[in-house]
Amino acid sequence: TLGEQRSHHAQLRSVTDRANRDALSGLYNRCYFEEYMSRAGAQARGGLLFVDLDHFKTINDDYGHITGDRLIKTVAGCMCEATRERDVVCRWGGDEFVVLLELGAESEHTHPAIERLVRALDQTRLDGLDGLKLSASMGYAEFENGQWREALDRADAALYEAKRGGRCRVQIAC
Ligand code: GH3
Ligand code: MG
Repeated sequence: TLGEQRSHHAQLRSVTDRANRDALSGLYNRCYFEEYMSRAGAQARGGLLFVDLDHFKTINDDYGHITGDRLIKTVAGCMCEATRERDVVCRWGGDEFVVLLELGAESEHTHPAIERLVRALDQTRLDGLDGLKLSASMGYAEFENGQWREALDRADAALYEAKRGGRCRVQIAC
């Protein structure tokens, strides 16, 4: 019947949505992100921001794993709020996130979008834990002609530089 068909479609949507998302943060997962980027095709252009929380192991050690989980969820929410609808935020794994910052046809630059994210993460607090100060390091690289995998490597290398340079900073790949 039509009713059964609708319910079947709704179930299918819910299963697909769960497969595309990370269970803890609710963000898109790495698998979905890679598919999305591959589907975008050879014309795709934009910027990739690789984010890794600083000393997250110590936060787990000092405050416990459950607080660490709460922090990941809060960070995810902040990142979504600080990005535009057309950007894609993904939990790459562990305490790593990747954000696709879309470059529109008007070829605006993405630095204001990065600044918004930096400010949002800087202001992230957990209720009842005012002493817990979060910081993150980031690497950023732009790509054209669908060459996003190579850009992700450059963003990752830039992130490594940001960590090496003392953390709590953004390194832009040249
Ligand atoms: P660094 O500044 O060099 O990034 O140091 P770090 O301590 O953040 O080290 P790293 O990024 O290598 O390790 C991330 C840690 O995040 C490892 C693991 O203990 C923790 N972690 C990974 N996934 C989860 C999770 O789902 N929940 C919690 N609470 N912790 C996680
Ligand atoms: Mg880390």
